[in-house]
Order: sequence, then structure tokens, then C-alpha cells
Amino acid sequence: MELDKMDENDWKYHGEGNKSLVVSHLQHCRVLRLLKFPSEDSAHTRQTAEQAFRHILNIVDYSKYVMKPLLGEEYVHSGEVVKLPLDFVRQLSLKVQQERPELRCDKVMDTFSGCGLCLPNLTQLPLHHLRDHRPPICVEIKPKCGFLPFSRHITKECKRKVCRFCMHQHYKLANGKWKRLSRYCPLDLFSGSKQRMYVALKNLLEEPQNNLKIFKGGELIFSCKDDAKQQPDLNDLIQHLRPYFPHSNGLYNGHQPGKAVLNDFIQVICSSLLSGGDSNRSGEPRKMHLSESRPHCEASPFPRDLLRNGNHGLPKDSVLSKILQVQMLDNLDIEGIYPLYKRVEQYLEEFPKERNRLQIDGPYNESFMDTVKNCPTEDDGSVEYAVGKVHQYRVAMTAKDCSIMITFAPCEEDEEHQLNLEKPRFTYSVSILDLDPKPYEGIPHQFKLDTKIVNYYLRSTQAPP
Ligand code: ATP
Ligand code: ZN
Ligand code: MG
Ligand code: MG
Repeated sequence: MELDKMDENDWKYHGEGNKSLVVSHLQHCRVLRLLKFPSEDSAHTRQTAEQAFRHILNIVDYSKYVMKPLLGEEYVHSGEVVKLPLDFVRQLSLKVQQERPELRCDKVMDTFSGCGLCLPNLTQLPLHHLRDHRPPICVEIKPKCGFLPFSRHITKECKRKVCRFCMHQHYKLANGKWKRLSRYCPLDLFSGSKQRMYVALKNLLEEPQNNLKIFKGGELIFSCKDDAKQQPDLNDLIQHLRPYFPHSNGLYNGHQPGKAVLNDFIQVICSSLLSGGDSNRSGEPRKMHLSESRPHCEASPFPRDLLRNGNHGLPKDSVLSKILQVQMLDNLDIEGIYPLYKRVEQYLEEFPKERNRLQIDGPYNESFMDTVKNCPTEDDGSVEYAVGKVHQYRVAMTAKDCSIMITFAPCEEDEEHQLNLEKPRFTYSVSILDLDPKPYEGIPHQFKLDTKIVNYYLRSTQAPP
């Protein structure tokens, strides 16, 4: 990619989140991730080009030096900061504007700094041979927090029984963020039990919200509808998936063939989520990690009498286990972190210059990582302890907000398998994306939000007698 010869016609709108907008290259397996900011920001409150560059460099460093060592080399692609011609960025912004979903248009793309992040396009498989007529399928899951908090600082008992995602659903519904409750529960996905994971994925397909997207050949084919009242079309998805599961088409001819296709599709997602590093290739038995049986969330629709069935626990090197371990660095809960945040704040008020040494706003390098790894377990009352725990909390927050991308395509020798009506075989790759640092300043907001979500949940579910 020659940065001085960038042409907006080589790029197209790919997708966006709350913080960034992504465009993909028409030929190469690359994307550009550009920052967004609130459209009402005026010229002088906006980041300068210098600040934007620093911001993106922080994102790359954080991914490279903090998240990658914690989550595993094989899953994380940190990308590189690029300086783009302003003319290109402005043309690009005009070009993508009409493609953007309405619910995201409260923010505008940064067309001032010319800074962006260049990443591999994870919805594609770079080595996938074009000989096969079936392009790769990519499933993007934003799994959210997969454990029940266990901190002794928790004041509301329901937080130990109902997971954050399920409680948050009620709050989001009340605030008009979504029109229907999602029945997805992260604890089921992270359970390692095939049955529970199946139910979790089925519920994601039925109500994807912003937790599930599916791409085919790099094009988005399934996600929540812009119009919140409309449900996504599962039949449409089944039509897309049919050629990938010819076996299930034949087997169930006439009798709910769509169901068999979806079933096989979910099995493929499950297997890739449970496969890990090299442990599955060496043929060794799966090493279970964390507690053998993952806890259950009381708000999950999974039938309780089935909880004891099946093998529980996540294989040690699986992507889900890696993410869960990092999420669990939040072992004090926001209720335990907030007082430590205030300790840091008080200290900084007295010694403002210490902000740099304590790396509150980065740089996110090996030394930041050392603080995360070597934080003492007991509170000795020091500011160092408080900073270490706050750093750990922020790292955990990133892992609670990341996405998993599973991209798979039929294996080449598959043509013969099809004739034999055997199960199709796929090559796949699993990655973790959206690993941005969460701001230190966000902690008071997180504390207030937690209280609001819990109080609302208690009020809405425990109606007066
Ligand atoms: P969030 O609101 O979830 O924090 P964000 O604004 O931080 O999102 P990302 O999640 O990084 O932005 O990117 C937005 C979307 O762009 C993703 O959901 C994904 O579909 C797509 N995307 C991001 N990075 C890549 C990539 N490397 N390859 C392919 N698609 C990508
Ligand atoms: Zn739950
Ligand atoms: Mg995202
Ligand atoms: Mg993000």
C-alpha cells in the first residue's frame, strides 16, 4: 500500500463501532480503522493531529505490549499507525457517508488528523484459494463479561447470581437502546459445555443486537437491523449457508432442512471457540481450565435441570479461556476499584507530576505491563497498589468489550467429501479484535452505571408483593 498514492475508489465502507469507522480495500486483505468523534465537537475541543497520532499509537502499543502477551500471539493483530493524505480521508468520508447506519451517525469520522490504523482484514482468509467458489464465512462475536463477580466488596447480592449482561439488558430496554431483550447469556457461551454454548449461540442468532455479525466474502450478511423493530432474517442466512453444508441439506430433505444447516453452522462456531493454540493439534486430551464446572446465571434461559450434563470447563488455550482469564483480572469489582481510583486521584492532586511516572495515560509499554502483572495481592495502603489494581481493572474492561472473529472456508479436498456425503471440513482462523485501552477517567462513570443497572434490575424484576 503506497500511502502517497491512496485512492478512495480502492476502498469501501466495512463497518463501525462506537469509537471507530472501518473501510476495507477492494483487492487486498486490509482494512483502515479511523477514529470518530461526536459531531458537535467544535474545532478547538477536537484532538489536534498530534494528539490523534498519539492516541492511535497508544492503541497499537496497548494491543502489542499489554493485550497480546495476555491473550496470546496467535489471536492478536496489532496493526500499524498510518499517516494518510488529508484529501484521501475527506473523499473517503464523503464516499462512506450514505452507507453508514443511522444509529451510528451521532458521530463523525475524523477527517482532520489524517491518522489511521492499518490492520489485516479478518473477515477474509488471506491464503484461501480462489479455486473454491465459496468465499469465507466470518462470525464476529462480542461475548461481553463471562463470569459472575466474586469480590468481597460487592454490596448487592444479585450481582453474585445474575450476570452483568443479563441485568444490563433490562436497563437498555428501558432506555430505548433495544426493542427486545436478548436471551443470550455470556456465562453460557463461556461455560465450555457444548449444550450451553449451543443455546447461547442460538440466542445470539435470534437477537444479535451488537453482539453478533456474520460476513460472507468480507460482506456483512447478518446483523441487527438499523430499524430496531425489524428482526434479522434467519431464512436469508440459511440460504447463504446452504452451500457450505451440503451434507445437512441432503440428510434432512424436506424436513426442516434449514434447521440442520443452522445446527451444523453453530457446531462449527462452537468447535473453533473451543479449539486452542497447539493443544488440539497435538492430539493431547483437553486441559480444563478454571473451575471444572462454570457457574450459571439465574437470568439465563438455559434449563437448570440440564446444567449437570456434559463436560464443563474451557480448554486451557482456547480463545474463550484466554479472554476469560484477562476479564478476571477484575477481581475487586468496580465497587472495590472505585475507592482505589479515589486514592489515586487524591495522590495526583497533591503530586500532579507523578501522573507520568504512574503511567496513568500510558505509554502502554513493557513497564506498564509489569505493573499489571506484578501488582501485590494485599492492599498495603500505597498508591502503587491502587494504581496496579486500577491498571488491572482497565485491562479487564478491554477484555470484556473485545470481539472474537472466526473465519472459515471449505477445505480444498472438500469436493470429494461432498460426494461421500461426509461432514464438510473447514479451514479456519480465530482472532481477537477491538482491544483499545479504556480510559482511566471512565471509572467514576462505570461506578455510577453499575449502581444504576443493578438498582433498575432489582426494581424491574422484584415487583412489590
Ligand atoms: P466498539 O463500539 O465495539 O468498541 P469500535 O468503535 O472500537 O467498536 P471496532 O470494533 O474495532 O470499533 O470496529 C468496528 C467494526 O469494524 C467491527 O465490529 C468489525 O466488524 C469491523 N472490523 C474492525 N477491525 C477489523 C479487521 N481487522 N478486519 C475486519 N473487520 C474489522
Ligand atoms: Zn446472564
Ligand atoms: Mg467493537
Ligand atoms: Mg472498541
